[in-house]
Amino acid sequence: MVLFCTATVFPSVTSGEELPGKNRYRANVQIDPLSKHVEGSITILFRPQDPSQVYLHVYPYAFAEKKQGEQWEQLLGKDALPGAYAITKLSVEGHPVEPKRQGTLLEVSLELAKDAVEKAGQVRLELHFEMTLPRNNGRMSYDDHALWLGNWLPVLAVHDKQGWNLEPYEPIGDPFYSENADYQIQVTLPDHYQLASTAADQEAMIKATAQGQKTYQLEAGDVRDFALVIMDQTYQILETKADHTQVRTWFRSSDNAVAAKRQHEAAWQSLAYFNSQFGAYPYREFDVVRTGGAINGMEYPAIVFVDGSHFFSERESTIHTVVHETAHQWFYGIVGNNQWRDAWLDEGLTEYAAIAFLSAKDPQYEAYRVWDRMLRGTTVSSYIEANLRPWQPLSAFPDNRSYGDLVYSRPFSMMWMLRDAWGEKKLHAFLKAYVRTYRFGVATGEDWIALLTAEAGADAKDFIDYWLYLNPKKRTAAENWLEKQRQ
Ligand SMILES: [Zn+2]
Repeated sequence: MVLFCTATVFPSVTSGEELPGKNRYRANVQIDPLSKHVEGSITILFRPQDPSQVYLHVYPYAFAEKKQGEQWEQLLGKDALPGAYAITKLSVEGHPVEPKRQGTLLEVSLELAKDAVEKAGQVRLELHFEMTLPRNNGRMSYDDHALWLGNWLPVLAVHDKQGWNLEPYEPIGDPFYSENADYQIQVTLPDHYQLASTAADQEAMIKATAQGQKTYQLEAGDVRDFALVIMDQTYQILETKADHTQVRTWFRSSDNAVAAKRQHEAAWQSLAYFNSQFGAYPYREFDVVRTGGAINGMEYPAIVFVDGSHFFSERESTIHTVVHETAHQWFYGIVGNNQWRDAWLDEGLTEYAAIAFLSAKDPQYEAYRVWDRMLRGTTVSSYIEANLRPWQPLSAFPDNRSYGDLVYSRPFSMMWMLRDAWGEKKLHAFLKAYVRTYRFGVATGEDWIALLTAEAGADAKDFIDYWLYLNPKKRTAAENWLEKQRQ
């Protein structure tokens, strides 16, 4: 049990506070790296889209029980141990409420917040929680040297044109969808630990507090999630400024130093490249953190997790993951999307951007990956027979292989064909315009296609039907559409 810290620098959120058109999260958490215990409170100030209720995704509930099945085993590992999660208090506008929970989803009635909604159009929700981290290979876990916390804070479900988006945690893909918000997170931990987060950590105020503890005041504006890694003293750092962003790569003293340097260079060089191609990165700090587990890589705003396997080997192929996660900063981060419904949108554009960078850096080496992605992205007859396609909900993918082929390789192949027709310059100007149009917002697949149609000057429907809905009857029409784009 960690001592509660009473030092509060952030003013507490009150309903009288004006919201700047986006939601606001404020948390105060205590982390004990030895017992893997995290507890604290979070206040969420938001404008309700639905006057009767609001939904929160509380993803740690997914790991408070043992998961069965092959896909979960692939994500979490054979020896995964569940953790524990409990909400000890919940209030709406100061009134205690009982939430209804189904899996990772919490339904909270706004009945007692009617006055606040009518008066100010906004609601304050406060939640106290306690958790013990699960032990697994996934996005939220720990090992002997670090605790990595991805998708650990409750996050508001999105209410959009489709209504509420209440999808559960899936073992395939990244089952997340959230809106741009401001975060202020106060973290207390023993003073011999280090921390990297979505915030610009080097600018954080750090206060020594009682009994060998310290408290970080972390702030991150215009982000759609907040991830955090706690590291012991075996972690070292490489730092390079890329344009206006300090890129910090965290690795362990037992890692291969050449491999770590290679990861770091790939991170800052690709960030600088994406800046030049898709628009300036908006954050002052970008952390690449070597975690344990076997997640490969995972993207969060201004921080990415890259697992240890990339820090052992000096092979050039190991940089692909960090470049891919860095590209997600634009496609998922700056421009958000529903990763449950339109997974192809962020994964397809991200994989295209990653390979565009790697091809510019080493065309000969990267030619093999382009060939491999194109082969997988165009060898799809078995998927057509099975009625599978890139544009379908996560729950419709039977395994990681079909997800990889259809959500990464197929849209990548589509983008590479478009690049061949338009040229790199025009394609990147188009993607830059897409980022500018939906910056800090959310884009749907339909939005992207509308922009594509406008840029092409010809309805892209057949092209999309062929590439993303795998309609073989549209093959000739898609080829003709692309042929016209060459002129
Ligand atoms: Zn990805």
